[in-house]
Amino acid sequence: MATLGNRRSTEEIIRKYRFDLRKKFGQNFLIDNNILDKIVEAAGITRNDCVLEIGPGIGTMTQRLAEEAGEVVAVEIDKNLIPILAETLAGYDNVTVLNEDILKTDIRAIARQHGGRPLKVVANLPYYITTPIIMSLLESRVPIESVTVMVQKEVADRMRVGPGSKDYGALSLAVQYYAKPEIVTKVPAACFMPRPNVDSTVIRLTCYEEPPVKARDEAWLFAVIRASFNQRRKTLANGLANAGGLGLNRQQVETVLAQMGLPRNIRGETLTLERFTELSDRLLALRA
Ligand code: SAM
Repeated sequence: MATLGNRRSTEEIIRKYRFDLRKKFGQNFLIDNNILDKIVEAAGITRNDCVLEIGPGIGTMTQRLAEEAGEVVAVEIDKNLIPILAETLAGYDNVTVLNEDILKTDIRAIARQHGGRPLKVVANLPYYITTPIIMSLLESRVPIESVTVMVQKEVADRMRVGPGSKDYGALSLAVQYYAKPEIVTKVPAACFMPRPNVDSTVIRLTCYEEPPVKARDEAWLFAVIRASFNQRRKTLANGLANAGGLGLNRQQVETVLAQMGLPRNIRGETLTLERFTELSDRLLALRA
């Protein structure tokens, strides 16, 4: 089987199987070998690693991963790609393809079946569900060493910025609570088939063994963060007091802000992760 990663062999395989690319599954296949090299290198894969690939498509990146890793588990939702993957990955005995929706996949079971080692996640993600996929990976508490993924440029920016930026929000805080984000490379639209309407970026999230800050209750911290950014142009106190699910009243919120030396009209986008964690711990104590 010819190596993929270029326009000609990608078109050939699509024609051979009369495969209809599906927009609803975010199918933009990589046709640039240099970008593939950069992704695989940034993921730092060795023979000791078990790699989880999300959305292998026709197997372009899977072939590369299989050459570097001990094992690869590739989860693809589109059943029409399964016969194609059987052909493009026929030469590799260390790849398992699962025809599943990654949001319903038992990732913990995959890690367990493959020796319990922390997984390395590598993917050219389907853009329509990037945030839910990243959040479920990080919040699952499955042992994951790193997540090296292609995402829309704006989403990569949101993951890595700090307070004061217009892009700073719930996603930045959640990602930075669990991992250290680093941009690997920008990727022009011409590197995909078909070309997406957006710019793309590869980002690597290196998961912390010990998080730099630790909330008393992580689920509560993220509920507080989401509520703080729910009404973007409103103050943090309004967001928290109006979030019915939290069960907090304005008086309680303002008391805690005053204890922390913060003004009543402060906005969520100015608070660091450390301050959010302190805020959430103090609000939690009020409910105890
Ligand atoms: N890895 C291939 C590449 O780089 O050429 C394909 C990347 S394409 C951007 C995204 C892939 O994710 C497609 O193959 C699509 O069918 C698959 N996909 C979309 N939604 C998915 C889901 N919920 N679970 C698993 N795979 C999904």
